[in-house]
Amino acid sequence: MRVLIVEDEPDLLRTISQALREDGYAVDEASDGQEGLYKATSWEYDVIVLDLLLPKLTGWQVLEKLRETRATPVLILTARDGVDDRVKGLDSGADDYLAKPFHLKELKARLRSLIRRSNGIASSQIQIGELIVDTTAKTVTRGQTLLLLTPREFSLLELLALHRGQVVTRTRIYEHLFDETDDSLSNLVDVHVSHLRRKLGKDFITTRRGQGYILHD
Ligand code: CA
Repeated sequence: MRVLIVEDEPDLLRTISQALREDGYAVDEASDGQEGLYKATSWEYDVIVLDLLLPKLTGWQVLEKLRETRATPVLILTARDGVDDRVKGLDSGADDYLAKPFHLKELKARLRSLIRRSNGIASSQIQIGELIVDTTAKTVTRGQTLLLLTPREFSLLELLALHRGQVVTRTRIYEHLFDETDDSLSNLVDVHVSHLRRKLGKDFITTRRGQGYILHD
């Protein structure tokens, strides 16, 4: 999953990025509203964390502009007593909010929930045949066996599972697995897919030549 964080406090930005990277997210950063809006409209993020008080463009302005073209889920960060800010943010198209200071655990839970909701999935467990992908515990089991996946392999499987039965293009996979700090080559997508296939058993993921990959329901 790929997330954009728009936050002008360097320490907070770093803390959030680090915590999300540890959970296997690909994380892009922006430290003002203009940069945030540019990135938010240039790439397809699974979720955006948006501070409201930002230089150049405020969070509300970013939201309004973003909503002209994109429905990306947005969680806004507000001041503890900022009831009016929250209301204005939600009215401008934010999907959720969190008041500062917050616990990273809660931020992570809210982001997972936003990603699930935007994919129309109610439970944190996705079942595909005898495969169970737990998006909260970040575990995968096949029957009684716990499969050991790397964070990237898990992200790949999660993306395919959220879109099970549909072709997911290599470009899309690439955009969701790698962030702006990665200079990896795109053919690594195929390498991750083949590793994942080896761990899952080969009947789960099918290659559509020239299109992408499908995880069968
Ligand atoms: Ca701020």
